[in-house]
Amino acid sequence: MKALVYQGPGSKSLMEVPKPGLRDATDAIVRITKTTICGTDLHILKGDVPSVTEGRVLGHEGIGVIEQIGSSVTRYHVGDRVIISCITACGKCDFCRRGMCSHCEHGGWILGNTIDGTQAEHVRIPWADTSLHAIPEDANEEAMVMLSDILPTGYECGVLNGCVKPGDTVAIIGAGPIGLAALLTARFYAPADIIMIDRDESRLDIAKKLGATMLINTSDGRVAEKAMSMTLGRGVDVAIEAVGAPETFELCQSIIAAGGHIANVGVHGESAPLHLETLWSRNIIITTRLVDAVTTPLLLKTVIAGKLEPKQLITHRFALHEVMAAYDTFGNAAREHALKVILSCA
Ligand SMILES: [Zn+2]
Ligand SMILES: [Zn+2]
Repeated sequence: MKALVYQGPGSKSLMEVPKPGLRDATDAIVRITKTTICGTDLHILKGDVPSVTEGRVLGHEGIGVIEQIGSSVTRYHVGDRVIISCITACGKCDFCRRGMCSHCEHGGWILGNTIDGTQAEHVRIPWADTSLHAIPEDANEEAMVMLSDILPTGYECGVLNGCVKPGDTVAIIGAGPIGLAALLTARFYAPADIIMIDRDESRLDIAKKLGATMLINTSDGRVAEKAMSMTLGRGVDVAIEAVGAPETFELCQSIIAAGGHIANVGVHGESAPLHLETLWSRNIIITTRLVDAVTTPLLLKTVIAGKLEPKQLITHRFALHEVMAAYDTFGNAAREHALKVILSCA
């Protein structure tokens, strides 16, 4: 089968690899119909994620059709259409039973990391019963791909950890796919204002269409000052960091209101300053989280009900054999005006 294989920092290739087979009784083999590229894949290609070794098939998002199941898989059958969760959950370990499947003792984020992933024609999914979700009959398939990772990530790590409430002022730093997923799902709670902060004007335009009430372009400078004046000097109730850089984490700290929540979503590759000298008395809460993907069923229902329209985050479409071009587009997101790209398999 064809698959996108990591060849060490800076290098990847689309190549022919053996088709995966069942290994454990709890496995399923899924024939991929649609997959996508994540910002995390770009981090991997830079060499930022040492757990990914040469020869690994990349990708942790996608949908497909079950082709084979192990003898103890009971929830799914051959021929079922499924969403592949970016988090593999055994459903039985202490972490899974606490709903913290990201730290599952037998899974977690393993796809396209420590086991072969979804940017391929087929993938082996361990713990299939608790790591897949059935696709409803009339669902839009492209929208379903957004449920593998970005919607649960924006919602759990940003909105739920940030405790967004009715009437809140929310700032989202970073208007990439994850920041926009946080924006879409923050709207469930009717915040009074959502301030979107990014350096890319076209992403800010999209944020506005998706419901941001105020925009700040960071390339104009004085970002904290602007956010403070927009909130009449109070600061924001919730600051969602969806970039993963020291400056953006510091920005959250300089615009947070007393009693506010800073919810980190970004993947950080270096240490970031924490200004306890100003924050110690401010009653704030800072959270970090790797997505547990426990809200996927809830988000799936909102998509099916038309309350959430994640298709708006898809900007480009390619065939799987064009995956190198798809990476080029996604990797040059500002130039290409790219958010999520869909890769389809015939
Ligand atoms: Zn991802
Ligand atoms: Zn587990």
